[in-house]
Amino acid sequence: MTAARRARPERTCVGCRQRAPANELLRFVAVGDGDPFRLRPDPDRRLPGRGAHVHPDPACLALACKRRAFGRALRKVGVADTGELAEHIHASTITPDHPTGRVSQQQGRTTDMSTR
Ligand SMILES: [Zn+2]
Repeated sequence: MTAARRARPERTCVGCRQRAPANELLRFVAVGDGDPFRLRPDPDRRLPGRGAHVHPDPACLALACKRRAFGRALRKVGVADTGELAEHIHASTITPDHPTGRVSQQQGRTTDMSTR
């Protein structure tokens, strides 16, 4: 083991623009050069290429969408397809205070109107 440095890597969330330890943020990369380019979540930080970071929080994702931060952060032109990233964030977000509790993720699309 090497000597543990105090300096932890910090990254900026593309949504709320706040700095946070890298391990609290979700890394993602752009795949494809098309328009739209797709955003792929990279929780293991293994994908090559230029990555950006966002809190695993739908609010930050929405903020980043609104300000078109993805293209800027990833040096891409065109529209970002956030589908894959959004799904990952929603799946990993646990909201205990949500009235419906945990929605089953297995079925992909949730039809919460029919549950009651
Ligand atoms: Zn954020």
